[in-house]
Amino acid sequence: MQFTDFQDSFRHKGLRKKLVDFLRSKGIHDEAVLEAINQVPRHVFLDNAFLELAYEDRAMPIGEGQTISQPYTVAFQSQLLEIKKRDKVLEIGTGSGYQACVLEKLGAKVHSIERQRKLYEKTQKLLQAMKSKVATYYGDGTLGLPAFAPFDKIIVTAGAPVVPQSLCEQLKPGGILVIPVGDEQNQRMLRITKQADGELVTESFDNFKFVPLLGKEGW
Ligand code: SAH
Repeated sequence: MQFTDFQDSFRHKGLRKKLVDFLRSKGIHDEAVLEAINQVPRHVFLDNAFLELAYEDRAMPIGEGQTISQPYTVAFQSQLLEIKKRDKVLEIGTGSGYQACVLEKLGAKVHSIERQRKLYEKTQKLLQAMKSKVATYYGDGTLGLPAFAPFDKIIVTAGAPVVPQSLCEQLKPGGILVIPVGDEQNQRMLRITKQADGELVTESFDNFKFVPLLGKEGW
């Protein structure tokens, strides 16, 4: 990824460093994740009106009633995924493209699906302009991406009512699915690991609040 066409000032870099210190103080301990957040210019993914708030730990509107996740949430999900270089990762909910770029910085080969056509188009253009190698798709991510399955890791960045069966099926043995599951107000962050024998082991973490995962195996 190169950001040479975008203004990334010393001020932005300084604000990112502060954000990283804040995330560390909140318990994010994976240094690779913190460094990825230190390097990806979040302000580039936001509309100009929100530039000043880009490095606050806040979710922000990105149009079409959707939001870019809070930096803490991006860091938390990225940390749970335990990304290794060249992991093939599927993201459900491209949104602004920020989470996808953080995963790319961590060395993953990222495929990302978005169901809002306008957001899909806008973010595809941005990622191309940034020379990102994230591959974007338009469609219902609750069904996964069978043409490219199986995946080492799958991340869902919208709140699901249940764990979509298709996503479990598209996980490699040893693979990890990170997904917020709950009602519309509150979701529990789950990490589901597929054992070598295909058995699924679920761990439950903190509460979060995401926009809803819509679609065939969503709301
Ligand atoms: N990862 C994004 C977060 C965007 S918010 C970022 O870093 O900015 C969640 C996104 O999930 C929204 O853009 C929403 O349109 C999308 N979404 C909801 N249901 C979906 C589905 N079934 N398939 C793909 N995307 C979905």
